[in-house]
Amino acid sequence: MITENLQNIQKELPEDVTLVAVSKTKPIADIQEAYNAGQRIFGENKIQEMVAKYEELPKDIEWHMIGHLQRNKVKYMAHFVNLIHGVDSFKTLKEIDKQAKKHNRVINCLLQARIAKEETKFGLPFTEIKNILASEEIIELKNITVSGLMGMATFTDDNEQLKSEFSSLKKLFNNLKNKHPQLSMLSMGMSGDYQLAIENGSTMVRIGSAVFGHRNYTV
Ligand SMILES: *Cc1c(COP(=O)(O)O)cnc(C)c1O
Repeated sequence: MITENLQNIQKELPEDVTLVAVSKTKPIADIQEAYNAGQRIFGENKIQEMVAKYEELPKDIEWHMIGHLQRNKVKYMAHFVNLIHGVDSFKTLKEIDKQAKKHNRVINCLLQARIAKEETKFGLPFTEIKNILASEEIIELKNITVSGLMGMATFTDDNEQLKSEFSSLKKLFNNLKNKHPQLSMLSMGMSGDYQLAIENGSTMVRIGSAVFGHRNYTV
């Protein structure tokens, strides 16, 4: 089932859109099946869970942290994490930089923008994203690169609303890219809304249940 789901999604995705297979809560065997089908990028939202899976699985997997970050746990993944999607403060960037430095690495990060109307979703207001990217202090963080932006849309069937949320982020992304050419990734779109996200400029989709099936508990 997983193999078939992956193949169907891959067929749909434009060539320049990256698929992050979101494997949170799913067992090693499921990830191994996706790996055997050719998938190499996996997303997790809990640091300990990602570390445990990293240790058991092939080392050519790229691990993406997509969840809300607890700063005190960044150190556990700093030696291997490939991309951190959900950075929503300068303080967190600083902590990632500090931990990356210990391993002599540069860690790619995405700033999470607040696009949803829901109160429960994390993310930075657009003005704060601009301020962080333009700040003097960020130049001193040699062990991180802000390589793009990430956003989570409102959980809704209202396509017009989704479209407006995705396109507002795309517009911000395009504007900022002129000044900050290191921005190359725009992570938006999940199982329920990735087609719309792609139509509105996403370059990276984070898909869980449409690959692995429904999760037993919500996280
Ligand atoms: C769980 C999760 C996803 C994937 O959700 P699905 O609806 O299962 O595709 C994507 N992004 C984030 C940040 C998540 O936490």
